[in-house]
Amino acid sequence: MRRVVVLGAGTAGTMVVNKLRRTLSRDDWQITIVDQNDSHHYQPGYLLVPFGVYRPDEIVKPRHEFIPDGVDLVFGEINRVEHDTNTVLLSSGRVLLYDYLIIATGTTPRPDQTPGMVGSQWRKSIFDFYTLDGATALKDKLEVWDGGRLVVHIAEMPIKCPVAPLEFTFLADAFLHERKMRDRVEITYVTPLEGAFTKPVSSRRLGGMLAERDIKLEGDFAVDRIDPDTRTLISMDEREIPFDLLVTVPLNMGADYIARSGLGDELNYVPVDKHTLRSKTHENIFAIGDASDIPASKAGSVAHFAAEAFVDNFVELVHGDVMTHSFDGHANCFIESGNGKGMLIDFNYDTEPLPGKYPVPGIGPFSLLTETRANHLGKLGFRWAYWHLLLRGHPLPVPSLMSMAGKHPDSTD
Ligand SMILES: Cc1cc2nc3c(=O)[nH]c(=O)nc-3n(C[C@H](O)[C@H](O)[C@H](O)COP(=O)(O)OP(=O)(O)OC[C@H]3O[C@@H](n4cnc5c(N)ncnc54)[C@H](O)[C@@H]3O)c2cc1C
Repeated sequence: MRRVVVLGAGTAGTMVVNKLRRTLSRDDWQITIVDQNDSHHYQPGYLLVPFGVYRPDEIVKPRHEFIPDGVDLVFGEINRVEHDTNTVLLSSGRVLLYDYLIIATGTTPRPDQTPGMVGSQWRKSIFDFYTLDGATALKDKLEVWDGGRLVVHIAEMPIKCPVAPLEFTFLADAFLHERKMRDRVEITYVTPLEGAFTKPVSSRRLGGMLAERDIKLEGDFAVDRIDPDTRTLISMDEREIPFDLLVTVPLNMGADYIARSGLGDELNYVPVDKHTLRSKTHENIFAIGDASDIPASKAGSVAHFAAEAFVDNFVELVHGDVMTHSFDGHANCFIESGNGKGMLIDFNYDTEPLPGKYPVPGIGPFSLLTETRANHLGKLGFRWAYWHLLLRGHPLPVPSLMSMAGKHPDSTD
Protein backbone atom coordinates (compact mmCIF):
# COMPACT_ATOMS: atom_id res chain seq x y z
CA MET A 1 0.00 0.00 0.00
CA ARG A 2 1.24 3.52 -0.78
CA ARG A 3 0.26 6.29 1.59
CA VAL A 4 -0.80 9.85 0.97
CA VAL A 5 -1.39 12.04 4.02
CA VAL A 6 -3.26 15.35 3.73
CA LEU A 7 -2.77 17.86 6.56
CA GLY A 8 -5.86 20.03 7.10
CA ALA A 9 -9.48 19.14 6.25
CA GLY A 10 -10.58 22.65 5.35
CA THR A 11 -11.61 23.82 1.88
CA ALA A 12 -8.54 22.59 0.01
CA GLY A 13 -7.84 19.36 1.88
CA THR A 14 -11.46 18.20 1.70
CA MET A 15 -11.69 18.83 -2.05
CA VAL A 16 -8.41 17.06 -2.67
CA VAL A 17 -9.27 13.85 -0.77
CA ASN A 18 -12.64 13.67 -2.52
CA LYS A 19 -10.95 13.94 -5.92
CA LEU A 20 -8.06 11.62 -5.03
CA ARG A 21 -10.31 8.90 -3.62
CA ARG A 22 -12.24 8.81 -6.90
CA THR A 23 -8.98 8.58 -8.86
CA LEU A 24 -6.50 6.44 -6.92
CA SER A 25 -7.09 2.69 -6.63
CA ARG A 26 -8.34 1.58 -3.20
CA ASP A 27 -6.22 -1.55 -3.44
CA ASP A 28 -3.01 0.40 -3.84
CA TRP A 29 -3.54 3.69 -1.97
CA GLN A 30 -4.33 4.55 1.62
CA ILE A 31 -5.51 8.16 2.01
CA THR A 32 -5.46 9.86 5.42
CA ILE A 33 -6.55 13.40 6.30
CA VAL A 34 -5.87 15.14 9.61
CA ASP A 35 -7.62 18.04 11.29
CA GLN A 36 -7.80 19.40 14.80
CA ASN A 37 -11.60 19.25 15.17
CA ASP A 38 -14.85 18.17 13.53
CA SER A 39 -16.28 21.64 12.70
CA HIS A 40 -15.99 22.81 9.11
CA HIS A 41 -16.63 26.55 8.82
CA TYR A 42 -17.83 28.22 5.61
CA GLN A 43 -15.47 31.14 6.14
CA PRO A 44 -16.95 33.48 3.48
CA GLY A 45 -20.04 33.49 5.73
CA TYR A 46 -18.08 35.25 8.51
CA LEU A 47 -18.46 38.49 6.54
CA LEU A 48 -22.24 38.43 6.84
CA VAL A 49 -22.50 37.40 10.52
CA PRO A 50 -21.84 40.91 11.95
CA PHE A 51 -24.77 42.27 9.92
CA GLY A 52 -27.16 39.53 11.01
CA VAL A 53 -27.48 38.01 7.50
CA TYR A 54 -26.17 34.59 8.60
CA ARG A 55 -26.39 32.99 12.03
CA PRO A 56 -23.29 31.06 13.15
CA ASP A 57 -25.14 27.72 12.97
CA GLU A 58 -25.85 28.36 9.27
CA ILE A 59 -22.17 28.34 8.33
CA VAL A 60 -20.80 25.43 10.38
CA LYS A 61 -21.24 21.72 9.58
CA PRO A 62 -19.60 18.52 10.83
CA ARG A 63 -16.34 18.02 8.96
CA HIS A 64 -16.70 14.24 8.70
CA GLU A 65 -19.82 14.59 6.52
CA PHE A 66 -17.61 15.82 3.66
CA ILE A 67 -14.89 13.17 3.89
CA PRO A 68 -15.65 10.25 1.55
CA ASP A 69 -15.68 6.57 2.43
CA GLY A 70 -12.26 5.08 2.02
CA VAL A 71 -10.43 8.07 3.52
CA ASP A 72 -9.20 7.88 7.14
CA LEU A 73 -10.12 11.06 8.98
CA VAL A 74 -7.82 11.56 11.97
CA PHE A 75 -8.56 14.20 14.59
CA GLY A 76 -5.56 15.73 16.33
CA GLU A 77 -3.23 18.68 16.36
CA ILE A 78 -0.28 18.41 13.97
CA ASN A 79 2.90 18.97 15.92
CA ARG A 80 5.67 18.42 13.39
CA VAL A 81 6.61 16.92 10.03
CA GLU A 82 9.83 14.89 10.04
CA HIS A 83 10.59 15.05 6.34
CA ASP A 84 13.76 12.96 6.59
CA THR A 85 11.76 9.97 7.76
CA ASN A 86 8.46 10.84 5.97
CA THR A 87 6.49 11.01 9.20
CA VAL A 88 3.94 13.35 10.75
CA LEU A 89 3.83 13.66 14.53
CA LEU A 90 0.60 14.64 16.22
CA SER A 91 0.53 16.32 19.63
CA SER A 92 -1.18 13.21 21.00
CA GLY A 93 1.98 11.23 20.22
CA ARG A 94 0.43 9.43 17.25
CA VAL A 95 2.73 9.00 14.24
CA LEU A 96 1.57 8.91 10.61
CA LEU A 97 3.81 7.63 7.82
CA TYR A 98 3.54 8.94 4.30
CA ASP A 99 4.91 8.42 0.81
CA TYR A 100 3.39 11.75 -0.30
CA LEU A 101 2.40 14.64 1.94
CA ILE A 102 -0.10 17.36 0.98
CA ILE A 103 -0.08 20.39 3.27
CA ALA A 104 -3.45 22.19 3.41
CA THR A 105 -3.51 23.77 6.87
CA GLY A 106 -4.41 27.23 5.58
CA THR A 107 -3.65 30.51 7.27
CA THR A 108 -4.84 31.96 10.58
CA PRO A 109 -5.31 35.51 11.89
CA ARG A 110 -2.70 36.31 14.55
CA PRO A 111 -3.77 39.35 16.60
CA ASP A 112 -0.98 38.48 19.06
CA GLN A 113 1.56 39.68 16.47
CA THR A 114 0.62 43.39 16.72
CA PRO A 115 1.50 45.03 20.04
CA GLY A 116 -1.58 46.39 21.80
CA MET A 117 -4.12 44.52 19.67
CA VAL A 118 -4.98 41.78 22.17
CA GLY A 119 -5.15 43.92 25.27
CA SER A 120 -7.69 45.81 27.32
CA GLN A 121 -9.69 46.83 24.23
CA TRP A 122 -9.85 43.42 22.46
CA ARG A 123 -13.50 42.67 21.71
CA LYS A 124 -14.48 45.92 23.47
CA SER A 125 -13.48 48.48 20.84
CA ILE A 126 -11.12 46.27 18.78
CA PHE A 127 -12.74 43.46 16.78
CA ASP A 128 -11.96 41.06 13.96
CA PHE A 129 -14.38 39.22 11.69
CA TYR A 130 -11.91 36.59 10.37
CA THR A 131 -12.98 34.15 13.09
CA LEU A 132 -16.49 33.02 13.97
CA ASP A 133 -16.03 34.22 17.55
CA GLY A 134 -14.86 37.61 16.32
CA ALA A 135 -17.68 37.99 13.79
CA THR A 136 -20.26 37.06 16.46
CA ALA A 137 -18.80 39.48 19.03
CA LEU A 138 -18.81 42.22 16.38
CA LYS A 139 -22.49 41.60 15.65
CA ASP A 140 -23.29 42.15 19.33
CA LYS A 141 -21.21 45.34 19.32
CA LEU A 142 -22.82 46.76 16.16
CA GLU A 143 -26.26 46.19 17.64
CA VAL A 144 -25.55 48.64 20.46
CA TRP A 145 -22.91 50.95 18.97
CA ASP A 146 -24.06 54.55 18.80
CA GLY A 147 -21.49 55.90 16.34
CA GLY A 148 -18.13 57.64 16.19
CA ARG A 149 -14.93 56.82 14.28
CA LEU A 150 -15.07 53.41 12.57
CA VAL A 151 -11.69 52.29 11.30
CA VAL A 152 -11.45 49.19 9.08
CA HIS A 153 -7.87 47.98 8.98
CA ILE A 154 -5.57 45.39 7.36
CA ALA A 155 -2.39 44.70 9.33
CA GLU A 156 -0.26 43.25 6.55
CA MET A 157 -0.57 41.42 3.23
CA PRO A 158 -1.10 38.66 2.28
CA ILE A 159 -4.43 37.97 3.96
CA LYS A 160 -7.01 35.42 2.97
CA CYS A 161 -9.79 36.85 0.81
CA PRO A 162 -8.08 40.22 0.29
CA VAL A 163 -11.39 41.82 -0.80
CA ALA A 164 -13.22 40.89 2.43
CA PRO A 165 -12.19 44.05 4.36
CA LEU A 166 -13.49 46.18 1.48
CA GLU A 167 -16.72 44.21 1.45
CA PHE A 168 -17.03 44.70 5.20
CA THR A 169 -16.59 48.46 4.71
CA PHE A 170 -19.26 48.69 1.97
CA LEU A 171 -21.67 46.59 4.02
CA ALA A 172 -21.01 48.67 7.15
CA ASP A 173 -21.78 51.85 5.18
CA ALA A 174 -25.09 50.36 3.96
CA PHE A 175 -25.90 48.98 7.44
CA LEU A 176 -25.32 52.39 9.07
CA HIS A 177 -27.48 54.12 6.44
CA GLU A 178 -30.24 51.62 7.06
CA ARG A 179 -30.03 52.32 10.80
CA LYS A 180 -30.17 56.05 10.02
CA MET A 181 -26.88 56.67 11.80
CA ARG A 182 -24.44 57.05 8.90
CA ASP A 183 -24.16 60.81 9.59
CA ARG A 184 -22.87 59.96 13.08
CA VAL A 185 -20.05 57.74 11.80
CA GLU A 186 -16.77 58.68 10.13
CA ILE A 187 -15.38 55.66 8.25
CA THR A 188 -11.68 55.26 7.41
CA TYR A 189 -10.20 52.35 5.44
CA VAL A 190 -6.59 51.74 6.49
CA THR A 191 -4.42 49.49 4.35
CA PRO A 192 -0.73 48.65 3.90
CA LEU A 193 -1.36 48.81 0.13
CA GLU A 194 -0.92 52.02 -1.84
CA GLY A 195 -4.59 52.01 -2.90
CA ALA A 196 -7.81 50.16 -2.21
CA PHE A 197 -6.61 46.90 -3.82
CA THR A 198 -3.56 45.27 -5.32
CA LYS A 199 -4.15 45.55 -9.06
CA PRO A 200 -4.42 48.92 -10.86
CA VAL A 201 -7.80 48.68 -12.67
CA SER A 202 -9.69 47.15 -9.75
CA SER A 203 -7.85 49.38 -7.25
CA ARG A 204 -9.09 52.47 -9.11
CA ARG A 205 -12.64 51.12 -9.33
CA LEU A 206 -12.80 50.02 -5.67
CA GLY A 207 -11.10 53.24 -4.51
CA GLY A 208 -13.79 55.17 -6.41
CA MET A 209 -16.49 53.18 -4.60
CA LEU A 210 -14.98 54.15 -1.23
CA ALA A 211 -14.92 57.83 -2.26
CA GLU A 212 -18.54 57.69 -3.53
CA ARG A 213 -19.53 56.49 -0.05
CA ASP A 214 -17.55 59.22 1.72
CA ILE A 215 -15.08 56.71 3.15
CA LYS A 216 -11.56 57.99 3.70
CA LEU A 217 -8.69 55.85 2.38
CA GLU A 218 -5.41 55.79 4.32
CA GLY A 219 -2.88 53.87 2.23
CA ASP A 220 0.73 52.70 2.73
CA PHE A 221 -0.01 52.24 6.44
CA ALA A 222 2.38 49.71 8.00
CA VAL A 223 1.03 49.23 11.50
CA ASP A 224 3.57 49.30 14.30
CA ARG A 225 1.32 49.13 17.35
CA ILE A 226 -2.03 50.00 18.87
CA ASP A 227 -2.33 52.21 21.92
CA PRO A 228 -5.36 50.74 23.70
CA ASP A 229 -5.54 53.58 26.24
CA THR A 230 -5.96 56.35 23.66
CA ARG A 231 -7.50 53.92 21.12
CA THR A 232 -5.06 54.84 18.39
CA LEU A 233 -3.51 52.91 15.50
CA ILE A 234 0.12 53.92 15.06
CA SER A 235 2.21 53.23 11.94
CA MET A 236 5.95 52.59 11.61
CA ASP A 237 6.33 56.17 10.33
CA GLU A 238 4.41 57.43 13.43
CA ARG A 239 1.14 58.32 11.68
CA GLU A 240 -1.72 58.11 14.19
CA ILE A 241 -5.33 57.11 13.50
CA PRO A 242 -7.70 57.37 16.46
CA PHE A 243 -10.76 55.09 16.55
CA ASP A 244 -13.88 54.42 18.55
CA LEU A 245 -14.43 51.09 16.84
CA LEU A 246 -11.57 49.27 15.12
CA VAL A 247 -12.38 46.34 12.85
CA THR A 248 -9.03 44.83 12.00
CA VAL A 249 -7.75 41.96 9.89
CA PRO A 250 -4.73 40.85 11.94
CA LEU A 251 -1.53 39.51 10.39
CA ASN A 252 -2.32 36.16 8.72
CA MET A 253 0.18 33.33 9.19
CA GLY A 254 0.54 29.68 8.25
CA ALA A 255 0.50 27.07 11.02
CA ASP A 256 3.30 27.05 13.60
CA TYR A 257 4.14 23.37 12.99
CA ILE A 258 5.32 24.39 9.50
CA ALA A 259 8.01 26.57 11.09
CA ARG A 260 8.90 23.84 13.60
CA SER A 261 9.32 21.41 10.70
CA GLY A 262 11.61 23.75 8.75
CA LEU A 263 9.16 23.82 5.85
CA GLY A 264 8.05 27.46 5.77
CA ASP A 265 9.06 31.02 4.96
CA GLU A 266 8.97 33.87 7.52
CA LEU A 267 5.14 33.78 7.61
CA ASN A 268 5.05 29.95 7.76
CA TYR A 269 3.91 29.56 4.16
CA VAL A 270 5.35 26.61 2.24
CA PRO A 271 7.48 27.66 -0.77
CA VAL A 272 6.23 25.72 -3.82
CA ASP A 273 6.42 25.85 -7.59
CA LYS A 274 3.50 28.14 -8.46
CA HIS A 275 2.35 25.94 -11.38
CA THR A 276 2.60 22.46 -9.81
CA LEU A 277 2.38 23.29 -6.05
CA ARG A 278 5.30 20.95 -5.41
CA SER A 279 7.60 21.93 -2.53
CA LYS A 280 10.77 23.63 -3.70
CA THR A 281 12.81 21.51 -1.29
CA HIS A 282 11.05 18.13 -0.99
CA GLU A 283 9.87 16.19 -4.04
CA ASN A 284 7.18 14.22 -2.18
CA ILE A 285 5.60 17.25 -0.47
CA PHE A 286 2.97 19.57 -1.97
CA ALA A 287 1.07 22.53 -0.48
CA ILE A 288 -2.37 23.65 -1.66
CA GLY A 289 -4.75 26.41 -0.60
CA ASP A 290 -3.76 29.23 1.74
CA ALA A 291 -0.83 27.24 3.18
CA SER A 292 1.39 27.73 0.12
CA ASP A 293 3.37 30.81 -0.88
CA ILE A 294 2.00 31.06 -4.44
CA PRO A 295 1.52 34.69 -5.54
CA ALA A 296 -2.26 34.27 -5.99
CA SER A 297 -5.11 35.39 -3.74
CA LYS A 298 -5.57 33.25 -0.66
CA ALA A 299 -9.14 32.23 -1.54
CA GLY A 300 -11.35 29.19 -1.68
CA SER A 301 -11.81 29.76 -5.41
CA VAL A 302 -8.04 29.57 -5.91
CA ALA A 303 -7.88 26.34 -3.88
CA HIS A 304 -10.69 24.95 -6.04
CA PHE A 305 -9.10 25.84 -9.39
CA ALA A 306 -5.66 24.73 -8.18
CA ALA A 307 -7.03 21.37 -7.02
CA GLU A 308 -8.05 20.47 -10.57
CA ALA A 309 -4.53 20.88 -11.97
CA PHE A 310 -2.94 19.44 -8.83
CA VAL A 311 -4.89 16.17 -8.82
CA ASP A 312 -4.30 15.59 -12.55
CA ASN A 313 -0.57 16.19 -12.02
CA PHE A 314 -0.44 14.03 -8.91
CA VAL A 315 -1.95 11.08 -10.71
CA GLU A 316 0.56 11.47 -13.54
CA LEU A 317 3.41 11.68 -11.03
CA VAL A 318 2.51 8.57 -9.06
CA HIS A 319 2.14 6.62 -12.30
CA GLY A 320 5.67 7.58 -13.21
CA ASP A 321 4.70 10.14 -15.87
CA VAL A 322 5.70 13.78 -16.32
CA MET A 323 3.33 16.31 -14.72
CA THR A 324 1.73 18.08 -17.71
CA HIS A 325 -0.80 20.38 -16.00
CA SER A 326 0.01 23.92 -14.96
CA PHE A 327 -1.99 26.06 -12.51
CA ASP A 328 -2.30 29.65 -13.74
CA GLY A 329 -3.22 31.37 -10.43
CA HIS A 330 -6.91 31.66 -11.39
CA ALA A 331 -8.97 33.54 -8.76
CA ASN A 332 -12.62 34.46 -8.88
CA CYS A 333 -14.16 36.56 -6.09
CA PHE A 334 -17.56 38.09 -5.56
CA ILE A 335 -17.39 41.46 -3.76
CA GLU A 336 -20.45 42.49 -1.76
CA SER A 337 -20.97 46.22 -2.18
CA GLY A 338 -24.09 46.78 -0.06
CA ASN A 339 -27.75 47.51 -0.87
CA GLY A 340 -28.29 44.10 -2.43
CA LYS A 341 -25.54 44.49 -5.02
CA GLY A 342 -22.13 43.03 -5.63
CA MET A 343 -19.21 42.92 -8.04
CA LEU A 344 -17.15 40.07 -9.43
CA ILE A 345 -13.46 39.90 -10.24
CA ASP A 346 -11.73 37.15 -12.25
CA PHE A 347 -7.96 37.11 -12.71
CA ASN A 348 -4.78 35.05 -12.60
CA TYR A 349 -1.00 35.39 -12.15
CA ASP A 350 -0.63 37.36 -15.37
CA THR A 351 -3.97 39.10 -15.98
CA GLU A 352 -5.41 41.64 -13.57
CA PRO A 353 -9.18 41.91 -12.94
CA LEU A 354 -10.80 43.45 -16.04
CA PRO A 355 -14.35 44.57 -16.88
CA GLY A 356 -16.66 42.32 -18.90
CA LYS A 357 -19.19 39.50 -18.51
CA TYR A 358 -18.75 36.09 -16.83
CA PRO A 359 -18.89 33.15 -17.36
CA VAL A 360 -20.69 33.46 -20.73
CA PRO A 361 -19.01 36.19 -22.83
CA GLY A 362 -21.36 39.10 -23.59
CA ILE A 363 -24.19 37.53 -21.54
CA GLY A 364 -23.03 36.83 -18.00
CA PRO A 365 -25.18 36.50 -15.94
CA PHE A 366 -22.40 38.01 -13.83
CA SER A 367 -20.69 41.35 -14.54
CA LEU A 368 -17.01 41.89 -13.91
CA LEU A 369 -16.01 45.01 -11.97
CA THR A 370 -19.59 46.31 -12.12
CA GLU A 371 -22.10 46.40 -9.25
CA THR A 372 -25.19 44.31 -10.04
CA ARG A 373 -27.95 42.46 -8.24
CA ALA A 374 -27.03 39.23 -10.09
CA ASN A 375 -23.52 39.35 -8.61
CA HIS A 376 -24.99 39.69 -5.10
CA LEU A 377 -27.29 36.71 -5.71
CA GLY A 378 -24.29 34.78 -7.04
CA LYS A 379 -22.43 35.43 -3.77
CA LEU A 380 -25.37 34.24 -1.67
CA GLY A 381 -25.87 31.18 -3.90
CA PHE A 382 -22.25 30.24 -3.51
CA ARG A 383 -22.83 28.87 0.00
CA TRP A 384 -25.02 26.12 -1.47
CA ALA A 385 -22.43 25.36 -4.16
CA TYR A 386 -19.71 25.21 -1.49
CA TRP A 387 -21.41 22.56 0.64
CA HIS A 388 -22.89 20.50 -2.19
CA LEU A 389 -20.42 20.70 -5.08
CA LEU A 390 -17.11 22.32 -4.26
CA LEU A 391 -16.15 20.51 -1.04
CA ARG A 392 -17.18 17.17 -2.50
CA GLY A 393 -14.80 17.74 -5.38
CA HIS A 394 -17.48 18.04 -8.08
CA PRO A 395 -16.78 20.35 -11.02
CA LEU A 396 -18.42 23.80 -11.19
CA PRO A 397 -19.72 24.96 -14.59
CA VAL A 398 -16.78 27.35 -15.07
CA PRO A 399 -13.33 26.66 -16.55
CA SER A 400 -10.56 26.07 -14.00
CA LEU A 401 -8.03 28.05 -16.02
CA MET A 402 -8.81 31.76 -16.47
CA SER A 403 -10.29 32.70 -19.84
CA MET A 404 -10.02 36.06 -21.60
CA ALA A 405 -13.38 35.45 -23.33
CA GLY A 406 -15.84 38.19 -22.32
CA LYS A 407 -13.18 40.45 -20.82
CA HIS A 408 -12.39 43.93 -22.10
CA PRO A 409 -8.66 44.58 -21.66
CA ASP A 410 -8.86 47.98 -23.35
CA SER A 411 -11.39 49.41 -20.92
CA THR A 412 -9.78 51.39 -18.11
CA ASP A 413 -12.75 51.38 -15.75
C1 LIG B 1 -14.02 36.62 6.22
C2 LIG B 1 -13.60 35.71 5.10
C3 LIG B 1 -14.25 35.80 3.87
C4 LIG B 1 -13.86 35.00 2.82
N1 LIG B 1 -14.54 35.10 1.63
C5 LIG B 1 -14.14 34.34 0.58
C6 LIG B 1 -14.84 34.42 -0.66
O1 LIG B 1 -15.83 35.17 -0.81
N2 LIG B 1 -14.41 33.65 -1.69
C7 LIG B 1 -13.33 32.80 -1.55
O2 LIG B 1 -12.97 32.12 -2.53
N3 LIG B 1 -12.66 32.69 -0.39
C8 LIG B 1 -13.04 33.43 0.68
N4 LIG B 1 -12.38 33.32 1.88
C9 LIG B 1 -11.14 32.52 1.95
C10 LIG B 1 -11.38 31.03 2.08
O3 LIG B 1 -12.23 30.75 3.17
C11 LIG B 1 -10.01 30.37 2.28
O4 LIG B 1 -9.13 30.82 1.29
C12 LIG B 1 -10.12 28.86 2.18
O5 LIG B 1 -10.89 28.36 3.25
C13 LIG B 1 -8.73 28.25 2.18
O6 LIG B 1 -8.79 26.87 2.28
P1 LIG B 1 -7.62 26.05 2.98
O7 LIG B 1 -8.05 24.63 2.90
O8 LIG B 1 -6.33 26.46 2.44
O9 LIG B 1 -7.66 26.54 4.50
P2 LIG B 1 -8.81 26.31 5.57
O10 LIG B 1 -10.12 26.12 4.89
O11 LIG B 1 -8.68 27.44 6.54
O12 LIG B 1 -8.45 24.91 6.27
C14 LIG B 1 -7.29 24.72 7.02
C15 LIG B 1 -7.57 23.57 7.98
O13 LIG B 1 -6.35 23.20 8.64
C16 LIG B 1 -6.64 22.88 9.98
N5 LIG B 1 -5.40 23.07 10.77
C17 LIG B 1 -4.60 24.17 10.80
N6 LIG B 1 -3.56 23.97 11.61
C18 LIG B 1 -3.69 22.73 12.12
C19 LIG B 1 -2.92 21.94 13.02
N7 LIG B 1 -1.77 22.37 13.58
N8 LIG B 1 -3.36 20.68 13.31
C20 LIG B 1 -4.50 20.20 12.76
N9 LIG B 1 -5.26 20.89 11.88
C21 LIG B 1 -4.86 22.14 11.57
C22 LIG B 1 -7.74 23.87 10.38
O14 LIG B 1 -8.50 23.38 11.46
C23 LIG B 1 -8.55 23.95 9.09
O15 LIG B 1 -9.64 23.05 9.07
C24 LIG B 1 -12.78 34.08 2.98
C25 LIG B 1 -12.15 33.96 4.22
C26 LIG B 1 -12.55 34.77 5.27
C27 LIG B 1 -11.86 34.63 6.60
